[in-house]
Amino acid sequence: MMRLGLDIGGTKIEAIVVDEDNRVVGTPLRLPTGFGAPAVINGAVKATEMAAQQLGVLPQSFESIGVGIPGAVDARTGRVSHAVNLGVSELELGSILEQHLGTPVTVENDVKAAALGAYHLLGDTSLRSMAYLNLGTGLAAALILDGKVWRGSRGIAGEIGHIPVIPNGVVCSCGQRGCLETVASGSAVARQWPGHGDAPVRALFDAATAGDARATDVLDRLVENVAVAIRILVFTVDVDNIVIGGGVSSAGGSLLASVRGVLEGWGTESPFLAAQQLPKRITLVPRGSHAAAIGAALVGRQTTTALAS
Ligand SMILES: [Zn+2]
Repeated sequence: MMRLGLDIGGTKIEAIVVDEDNRVVGTPLRLPTGFGAPAVINGAVKATEMAAQQLGVLPQSFESIGVGIPGAVDARTGRVSHAVNLGVSELELGSILEQHLGTPVTVENDVKAAALGAYHLLGDTSLRSMAYLNLGTGLAAALILDGKVWRGSRGIAGEIGHIPVIPNGVVCSCGQRGCLETVASGSAVARQWPGHGDAPVRALFDAATAGDARATDVLDRLVENVAVAIRILVFTVDVDNIVIGGGVSSAGGSLLASVRGVLEGWGTESPFLAAQQLPKRITLVPRGSHAAAIGAALVGRQTTTALAS
């Protein structure tokens, strides 16, 4: 039996199919995302049909479809709200897709789905806990405890991007001031260092390396605040491992090395902090690994397993 995972992002939908051993089948597909509820539904249906066609099967023959999407998601009902960058305020995405596709559909927040995918890609079942730190336009984390997504009582667990860290800082999209997201995210870089296109963080590293003082200043602050995020995750949930993903992580090894450098520096001033071995706990999500779409496929599986038992 095959399971489909759809990762619906602000610019693209990615579709991936996994078999019963969670191995990827066929080629991952990519479609542009439309804006507004009808376009999101159409995109998901189209991606499903293309994935089925590629494998010579009907959409109904997928055992389950899992969807990762930004915004607040009620995973039990498949209801999505406040997916602002998709132009969706409220949408019964799960039930609408089930009607269109004739297959059980589970919807999950995209960062939570990506966390599950990253946990699967680590391939270490002895790992009891993991945090996935998504550095995209915003900053959000999701927690995997004992192999499952930990939501907390209202689904807000891991939303560390909205912990204020700068007193009287800039106003955040959430209405608070000086949130971690306002200083450690793609949007934070774009605000402080505007006009550098689609990959501002990569460009920021290049400019800083070339000696641009403003770029160096912005980069230092970014790196330091990513290290703050790591420290918050370790001191609150003491996870075994933190996997960094999202668009900002495309800066790759240089980002990881810089963040480790900050954490090591803090460790020299605090034996207590040094003993927690923060630099050792962080890794990057493997490039081109499709963690979010794989995680979405696994979300579908988790639900069907739960219903069957
Ligand atoms: Zn905020």
